[in-house]
Parts: sequence; structure tokens; C-alpha cells
Amino acid sequence: MDERWLVGVDVGGTSIKIAFINLVGDIIHSWEIATDKREKGRYIPIDIARSIDKKLNELDQAKSKLIGIGAPGPVNVQDGSIEVAVNLGWRNFPLQDILERETSLPVVVDNDANIAAIGEMWRGAGKGAKNLICVTLGTGVGGGIIVNGEIVHGVNGAGGEIGHITAVPKNGALCNCGKTGCLETVASATGIARLALEELTSTNKLGKLMDSYTMHQTVTSKLVFDAANEGDETAKQVIDQVVFYLGLALANLANGLNPEKIVVGGGVSKAGHTLLKPLKEQFAQFTFSRVAQGVELVIATLGNDAGVVGGAWLAKERLMNKLQVR
Ligand code: ZN
Repeated sequence: MDERWLVGVDVGGTSIKIAFINLVGDIIHSWEIATDKREKGRYIPIDIARSIDKKLNELDQAKSKLIGIGAPGPVNVQDGSIEVAVNLGWRNFPLQDILERETSLPVVVDNDANIAAIGEMWRGAGKGAKNLICVTLGTGVGGGIIVNGEIVHGVNGAGGEIGHITAVPKNGALCNCGKTGCLETVASATGIARLALEELTSTNKLGKLMDSYTMHQTVTSKLVFDAANEGDETAKQVIDQVVFYLGLALANLANGLNPEKIVVGGGVSKAGHTLLKPLKEQFAQFTFSRVAQGVELVIATLGNDAGVVGGAWLAKERLMNKLQVR
């Protein structure tokens, strides 16, 4: 008997990750294609369908797969359409319909941060936890909340948008969402770089961070963590601010949800201990004692694979049940 495969797809602004994954979540084959954003992203689902077909042919595999796909932006889970994904050019885009038509395979769609959270729950740092918060610190801040093993979508698909929790209630920086003071403005890679630049220009303090700023003429979140590791005071102060805002936001979320795990992922989480240690301290300060007893803060382990793994899980859970009913 041939092994059943699932297809996990993770649509990003520059590339689309696709993987064939077995029923226990092992990646069998994975590859990437470029995101074609011409004509408001209309070619994206066609490109995905063709790429899957081509790979199945190469591997001499029958076409009896299920597809779970994650896309940026709020998703209408009823019909798998995307209301708006600014960086792809999509607006009221019927992703599920088009992809089902192009592949003749069943498709389930969810938000990219949500499927990353599901991936970490299934095979990553959240393994075994049914109540989990996942926060992705990348160019922006993404989030996924899982309660009793189910993704929290909320009433219109915006559940789990942790990046837009108000972290700075007064005089906060403007966020891409149009609001000010969002967690994204202070805890994303971009936000951390902005805080660092503010700190450098206001204090003018010499040290490692100032040196690398002078050398590169720019400051990045990675340079901040590197400088902090070398004992730079300015960098440490920036990280203190970041973990204060992030710790407060995560603690308040935890106080409302009583999760078992909080998984911190994304490029910024590569700082590892330099981020996690002070974050745990701030988090502890704001967390209700009974909530604190039950929760563990961990760094994500799946990296860029979290999305495709989560997509495959979604295909398994949602579509296999549906097919059995038929
Ligand atoms: Zn925002």
C-alpha cells in the first residue's frame, strides 16, 4: 500500500514553500517557488498547482493528496477566501476555490501565522500542548492561539493577531495596520531596529552598538543582540525595552488563556537565550501565579518549516474527516 501524503503550502511575500508530508508529520520532499506578484497576485494559485503537479510527476506519485495552505492576512475559514493580503495584491481572493479547481484536490486555507502555530504544536516546540500561544517575531509580529487543540479564529478571522495588541498606549509609533503603539512596532525585527536607532541618537553613548552603527550606517535587530552579548549597555537597554513590552503582552494573553506553552519563533528568536532569559523575567512579573505554574516559554524549533507542517496537519484534520463522511 502506498503511503498517504499531505501537501503543506506556505505563501509568503517573496517565496512560496511547498512540502509533501506524511501522516505523522515527517517532511518527505520540500521545495520553494518564487511568489509572482504581477497582476495582483492572480498567478499564485496556478503556480502552486503546476509546481505540485510537476513534483508528483517527477516522483511518480498518484494524485490523491490533500492540500493545507497558509496565506498572510485574515482568512474567511468558511470558504477559504482571503479578504486582503496587501503584500500579495489580493483582495477578496477566493484562494480555496481557485486552488481546488487548478489542482482537482481538496484544499483547506488558514492564516500563515495560525498554521505556523499548528506546526509547532504538532511537531515543534509545542509538541503535545493543546493550549498554546505562538508568537512570530519577524519583519512583523504574527501570532496564533490554540485552545483545546483548535485555532482561535474569532468572529471574523482576526483572532490571534498578537502583533496588534497595544503595547505602548501613549505616543506609540505608527503600525502598518493604521493603529499606533502595536506590539509589532516594538518587538518585530523592524521595531527593535527602530528602538535601537532612537536610543543611539538620543544617548550618543559609545560602545559596540554605536561602533557597528557607524560602520554599517544602519542598525538591525541581529546587531543589537550581538552587541548585547558582548556587554554593550545601549543594546542591553534596547533589549530591556523589547522584553518589557513583549513580556507584558504575553503575560496578559496568558492571564486570559492559561496556556501550557508559549512558543516564540521568527528571525528575532534566533537570539535564543539572550532574548528568552530576560523575557522570562518580565513575563513572570506580570503573570498570575496559577497561570505561571502551568506555562513554559520556549523558542520555536521548526523554523521556516512550521508553516508547511501546520498546513499538512490542517489538511489531515479537516479534509480527511470530511472525505470519510462522504
Ligand atoms: Zn498594528
